[in-house]
Parts: sequence; C-alpha cells; structure tokens
Amino acid sequence: MSLQQSLAIVLQVRDHGDSDKIVTVYTPEHGKIVLIAKGAKRSKKRFVNKLELFSLLSMQFSPSRHSSLMRLDQADLLNPFPGLRENYELYIAASLLCELVLHWTREQDSDEELFRLLAWALEGLVMEGGGVNRTIIFFHVKMLDILGYRPDLAGCLDCRVLGAPGVLYRFSPLRNGLVCSRCEPQATANTQPLSIQTIQLLRRAQDMEQGKLERLQFPLAATQEAIALLKRYDNHLLQREVQSWNFLR
Ligand SMILES: [Zn+2]
Repeated sequence: MSLQQSLAIVLQVRDHGDSDKIVTVYTPEHGKIVLIAKGAKRSKKRFVNKLELFSLLSMQFSPSRHSSLMRLDQADLLNPFPGLRENYELYIAASLLCELVLHWTREQDSDEELFRLLAWALEGLVMEGGGVNRTIIFFHVKMLDILGYRPDLAGCLDCRVLGAPGVLYRFSPLRNGLVCSRCEPQATANTQPLSIQTIQLLRRAQDMEQGKLERLQFPLAATQEAIALLKRYDNHLLQREVQSWNFLR
C-alpha cells in the first residue's frame, strides 16, 4: 500500500515521545485510523495548528514499516471550526461527538454515512447557537442507527403497547428497549424511566432526515431524560465512561 489521500476528522491527539504525535482520525473510506505524525511536536511548519481535536483535514498517509500505525505524511486544514473553539459549551459538545465516534467505532471499519453525519453535526453546532443538546441527541440517535444499535422505542418489549393510560415506561439498556410497569411492576437495576413525550421525541429523531432537525423541539425535561438515557446506554454497551458527558451543562 503506497501513499493514500483522504478527508479526515481528528478524534484524538496524544503526544508520543519528545517529538511525535499519535493522531486518531475518522475518514470516509477507511473509518477510524491511528497515525503517527513524526516530528509534529518539533517541526513548526508541517503540522502546526492542524492536528487539533475535530479539525477537518485533507491528509496524505502511508503504512509505517516499523509499526502497525499509519504514517501521516501531510495534512491540509480544510476547516478548523473556529466557532467551536471560542465557546466552552460548543467546544464540549464537539468534543463529545468526537469521543463518541472514537469509542463506538472499530479501526478500519469504514462508514461513509457516519463520516458525513459527524461533519454535518460539527457544522450544525456552529449554526445552532442555543440548541446544542438537540444536535447532540440527534447525532447520537442517528449514530446508533448507522452502527446497528437502534433502541426499540415502538412500545413495551413484552406487550408491545405504548401509551396505555396510567402505565409507566422504563428503558432497559440490557434489552435495548422499553418495558412497561404492567409487565414489570418492580423497576430492575440500570433501567431508566422515560416519559411518553421523551419516547415520542426520540422516535421522531430516529426517523427524521438531518436537514429537518429544526422541526424537533425538545423541552428541558425531555432533553434531560434523553441525555441521561444516551449516557446510560453508552456506559452499558461500551463498558466505559464517555468523559465529555461529565462536562456538558
Ligand atoms: Zn408491557
């Protein structure tokens, strides 16, 4: 495999030794790849200000002879998303999106749709202004869809009913769907109560096109429930904590 070219969004950057950096990116054709940027800490010219979290790059890379890492040969900055770096809330939101893709994907498992979703959501955050949580919820729901982990929110997994009067619903990460208080009167561990309103909003998000996001209005209570649910789902399926959730306001 010789020199290759690709678009890439930076998901993680770490120092490596005295002069190098290890960069994890998401690309349309190769999915997540890990590269070594030789001399990135020292050479001011080649990579300066380019290898930053959530930057969109056009890069050239090649397999390294001495390790399993790819070698980053050149990077051109297409979009540094300056608007996301000047505001704490937006910075945390963009970091969260990148951390989700970092943990939810495997190396070299390509998904062009996920790349487009991530690029769209980063752009969207800049445009959204106040609706940061809505973009996060929408991104997460769509990401689960793309990766084949769509939660079943059509009704209780046992009786298939949704919205029966006086019945409460809980989400079970273990079963990847809803259980109702008639089928399971005692709340089991690690399940989370969800209002009908939150369930309906999440279902609409699952089926909505990206361009129509502004039609989705999340009241505060539904936003909090949806975010708590997604965080719990991450913890359960990834078996680890996604750090950026803790910095979200
Ligand atoms: Zn039921």
